[in-house]
Amino acid sequence: MTVHEPARDINVRAEVDILVVGGGPSGVMAAYAAARTGKHKVMLLESRGFLGGNLTIGLPILAFLGPKGNQVIKGEPQHFIDRLRARGAAGPHKPCKNHMSLTIIDSEEAKNVCAEMMEEAGVEVLMYVFCCGVLKDGDRVKGVIIESKCGREAILAKTVIDCTGDGDVAFRAGVECHKGDAEGGMQPPTLMYQMRGVKMQELRDAIVKHPDVYDMDVMPPEQFVSGHFITVGLRKQILQAQADGLDIPVSRTILITGLKPDEIWVNMTRVSGTDSTDPASYTRCELTAHKQMKDVTEYLRRYVPGFEDATVEKVAPFTGIRESRVIVGKYVLTAEDILSMKHFDDVVVVAGYPVDIHHAKGGDCTMLFTADAYDIPYRVLVPEKVESLLVAGRCSSMNHEAMAGTRVMSTCMALGEAAGTAARLALEAGVQPSAVDIPSLQSALRANGAYLG
Ligand SMILES: Cc1cc2nc3c(=O)[nH]c(=O)nc-3n(C[C@H](O)[C@H](O)[C@H](O)COP(=O)(O)OP(=O)(O)OC[C@H]3O[C@@H](n4cnc5c(N)ncnc54)[C@H](O)[C@@H]3O)c2cc1C
Repeated sequence: MTVHEPARDINVRAEVDILVVGGGPSGVMAAYAAARTGKHKVMLLESRGFLGGNLTIGLPILAFLGPKGNQVIKGEPQHFIDRLRARGAAGPHKPCKNHMSLTIIDSEEAKNVCAEMMEEAGVEVLMYVFCCGVLKDGDRVKGVIIESKCGREAILAKTVIDCTGDGDVAFRAGVECHKGDAEGGMQPPTLMYQMRGVKMQELRDAIVKHPDVYDMDVMPPEQFVSGHFITVGLRKQILQAQADGLDIPVSRTILITGLKPDEIWVNMTRVSGTDSTDPASYTRCELTAHKQMKDVTEYLRRYVPGFEDATVEKVAPFTGIRESRVIVGKYVLTAEDILSMKHFDDVVVVAGYPVDIHHAKGGDCTMLFTADAYDIPYRVLVPEKVESLLVAGRCSSMNHEAMAGTRVMSTCMALGEAAGTAARLALEAGVQPSAVDIPSLQSALRANGAYLG
């Protein structure tokens, strides 16, 4: 059934040069890069009451380092880490056999640093607004429609950058989008939560001294002797807990150290079959994930050394989405490109994270490792047919397998920096973002410290 919504005139709340929609890792970087020179009026829209997106749910930032151990993600993402470190809110880039590197951050400080960066660059931030429509002139985007307590309003912009994770702007602008694998299967979401009171030395000793019992997939036990770590393993313990009647939705025990010595973030809930672009599906996911926490916590206390007395201290503000829409851009990055480490003349990011697919069904994961870092071309940010629009972050133009590698936050931040810089340079040159001069873009990124190979 449908109803007819009568057309009406709506208030134009703002008119800006560059509008970034979505204040997650890619959006904050895009807005900062667009505004940095102070020449353009930049606005950032965010539906939640804080900035940071998935930077705020208790995740480490993976793969600042590449497979060979050298740092590949630099530029503004590294400056972001420097800002966090200056206030004791980020650890070192700790090398890791499975994840290339992990950088532990304080989620609350991440929100603050994002906000401070926007203030410093003069970006106007508007929270509690949901971008629900697009204004177009022919094939050119000329603004967006937002919904808030004020009702429906418009924001006009010369260039829009979609950093919503779900490609909300691109989808509404008519850009071709895809979801998941050939059957539409998407990587499942996870509700992250924090436990305190973990006896970390007991956990380390178990992994280091008894690797036959406490397996760690591809990671050598020595990796767990000191410093931050992510466990990916303890498969036998999960099988035992399942045999004993606990409902554990994953095959591997994924635990991440925090900045406090007794702090662990648990990455073990999983709600298969979720589509975050459908509120009924996302609601079911959210409610199910909260229920799953009970048995997962019970599992950790009974089967994993060091957790006997640990308690749940914090739950992430929302269930994190690994995968939803991706756009079809001027180039669609594939897993073959990543695994063959293909070079592109229009490289704007060199990334190092492997293809890491959490299976759409069941509790396991496929990892495909590369020998070295790989290029991501500018064209993945540029929609195929729609102008005045760039798309950065996990919804950029990648297929299902490739986005399983590029989705990590270090890479998304670097993609955001590239998009914001390109939008700014295109306006300065009076051309569409699709026609930006690539050598100039690459020079600007390098000048801010980016590594492009
Ligand atoms: C459970 C889980 C574990 C992960 N593990 C890791 C890890 O360990 N390390 C790592 O580096 N990466 C990890 N990732 C991947 C990574 O977190 C994401 O891929 C990455 O954050 C995507 O960044 P983004 O900027 O594209 O989107 P997001 O981080 O999703 O940010 C999008 C922002 O846009 C806002 N928004 C969305 N739609 C609208 C709208 N219509 N209007 C206004 N605002 C809107 C959202 O509120 C949000 O703030 C994980 C992801 C998940 C879900």
